[in-house]
This record gives sequence, structure tokens and C-alpha cells, in this order.
Amino acid sequence: MKYYIMFGPPGAGKGTHAVALRDKYNLCHLSTGELLRAEIAAGTGLGMKAKALISEGNLVPDEMVEKMIEKRFNSIDDVEGFLLDGFPRTLGQAEDLDKMLAARGDSVTAVISLMIPDEMVHQRIRHRAAIEGRIDDASDVVIQNRINTYHAQTEPLIEYYSKQGKYFEVEADAPTIEENRARVLGLMEKIGK
Ligand code: AMP
Repeated sequence: MKYYIMFGPPGAGKGTHAVALRDKYNLCHLSTGELLRAEIAAGTGLGMKAKALISEGNLVPDEMVEKMIEKRFNSIDDVEGFLLDGFPRTLGQAEDLDKMLAARGDSVTAVISLMIPDEMVHQRIRHRAAIEGRIDDASDVVIQNRINTYHAQTEPLIEYYSKQGKYFEVEADAPTIEENRARVLGLMEKIGK
């Protein structure tokens, strides 16, 4: 199995481009944000706990997302691999993912990082708010908190995966989705894993 990580700040296009990679490479796309939103919509206990944290722009506890991911690793096997979108987001999650994969005799294949400047995060999320109506897209204060959380808790993963030679970056700041998608697909070809 291959294990790819879609990495980058909120609004970088991780979910959008994950769909193209999923279809081209026969991967299972696992978005922890989407899985959490489904729990909220279903009104589960986990969803209720997650909702307060998500609506403030804070991360949910590591073990909450790790359990959701592990459950899918154990139940899905009719694909070439997994495309993790929005996970891991902390060093603790990255270390636990390594352990989870080591126990399966596997390891992370590559990290595909989509880079955009902070101002573009605000622009893109304001645009998405009008279309998707996500609770955490509605206010500038919450968006800024998500950006701060990304810099403080998620950005250290760049060094973590660079040291392992698994970190690959693409500028995802082109004005059109098509242009950015072409860059992401080009990077995948280059990685050739
Ligand atoms: P996303 O759809 O990836 O932007 O995620 C939406 C929200 O879900 C995030 O702002 C977090 O509150 C929560 N979330 C998603 N993935 C994780 C994760 N790996 N660790 C902690 N919280 C997460």
C-alpha cells in the first residue's frame, strides 16, 4: 500500500486536488475534516465533542482523528493506497501514524505539500464560505486562528518529513484550479512512487 499525505494550510486546495489524485492513482481519499463533519451531521457523541473545537478553529484531540484513520486502514483494502488529507496535523499524530504504519509493515510514501501565502488563505476561504457554508469558514477571527494553528502545530511536520526525504512541495497559488491541478499531477509524476 502507498500512503500519501496532502499537506498545506487551510484553503490550499488539499481536498480539491485529492479527488484528482484519488481517481488517477486508485487511492482511498481520507479527509479527517470531512469525517468529523459527517460525525457532526449525524449528531454522534464524537461529533458533539468535535463541533465546539472546530467552530473555534482549534484542533480536535490527536486520538480522536487517529482512531478514525486506523478504522479505515483496517477495513479498506481494494485500493492501491491511501491519500490522507488534513492528517497528520501535529507532530504527535505524525509519530503515531509512523507507528500505525510500521505495525502494518508499511511507511509514509510521500508528502505532497501545497503552498499558498496567508493572504490567499483568507481570500480562498471567504470564497468557499459562500459556497459550502462550513461553520469554521464563517468568521475572519476563526480563519486567522486556523492559520495560526497551522503555523504553530502543523508546520513543524515540514522538517519532520524533510529529514526523511519524503517532503515534496508545489506552489498552489495559480489563479485557476486547473493550473494548480496540473502542478500537483506534475509533482506526482516527478516523485514517481
Ligand atoms: P479541514 O476540513 O481539514 O480543514 O478540517 C476542519 C477542522 O477539523 C480543522 O480545523 C480541525 O478543527 C479539525 N481537524 C481536521 N483534521 C484534524 C486533525 N488531523 N487533527 C485535529 N483536528 C483536525
